[in-house]
Amino acid sequence: MQTLREVLQQTQQRGVAIGHFNISDLVLLKAVVAAAQELNVPVLVGASQGERDFMGIHEIAALVKSLREESGVPIFLNADHTHSLAKAEEAARAGFDSIVFDLSALPREENVRQTKEAVAKLKAIHPAMLIEGEIGDIGTGSEIHETMVDVSKGLTTPEEAKQFVEATGIDILAPAVGNMHGMSSSMVRGEARKHLDIKRIAEIKKATGVPLTLHGGSGTEDDDFRKAIAAGINVVHINTEVRVAWRQALEASLAKQPGEVVPYKILPPVIEAVKEVVLSRLRLFNGVGLVAQDAGLASATG
Ligand SMILES: [Zn+2]
Repeated sequence: MQTLREVLQQTQQRGVAIGHFNISDLVLLKAVVAAAQELNVPVLVGASQGERDFMGIHEIAALVKSLREESGVPIFLNADHTHSLAKAEEAARAGFDSIVFDLSALPREENVRQTKEAVAKLKAIHPAMLIEGEIGDIGTGSEIHETMVDVSKGLTTPEEAKQFVEATGIDILAPAVGNMHGMSSSMVRGEARKHLDIKRIAEIKKATGVPLTLHGGSGTEDDDFRKAIAAGINVVHINTEVRVAWRQALEASLAKQPGEVVPYKILPPVIEAVKEVVLSRLRLFNGVGLVAQDAGLASATG
């Protein structure tokens, strides 16, 4: 199987991005894998510290490994937002393909010092694992927030991005470019959208030359995603949208079958609903359907 590094290079050459979806149970994992399989595109399965603690780090690794072998699509496993070296080393030993080593809440110098140290230690355990570092403020918590915080003050500059990448030796950078974890209630209702600083993304890409990840993608305007990918974003994280679909579908399924207690009768509609969200995001990030749409337009107008 191809490595994540190889797939990142190929997707960048093709001008598309890899979708990253967090999971904390088998329903979400099955939905993500089914969507990637249907479109035959690579996908990143993410598990943050909380999600790993809930499911079990070795259990997640074993499930993803077995689905990877069965599905025939490149499925990679990312240890999302990891805040300590001990937790990072656990993920490296469990065979994760990548890790987000996130000390962005610390003062910059401390973030640089500890991230550099982590890169050396993690590569010694698992040389092929890609390490992502983070600077700037993109908030915390893939949840519904009553109001969204103003992120405009914590944006990453191209200069600090370049310095951070060079000083730490990270493989991937997660910049703050107008993105934000979580969604506001108005975003869940579809009344508001996030917007990205596309010019800043292009400048950070030019200054660093490394793969870039966009965190907190939920609720972002579709066209901003397209432009961000064209400007140099290689991986897009979606979590809250998936969680919202999971909860709404679960409530609907329980309401529809009030007397049902059999999990495998209650949960399939939840898998379907989550899969639909993942499919629509994967289509957008991979440019699937664009050619067909263009062809349709051409014949309609021609
Ligand atoms: Zn994130």
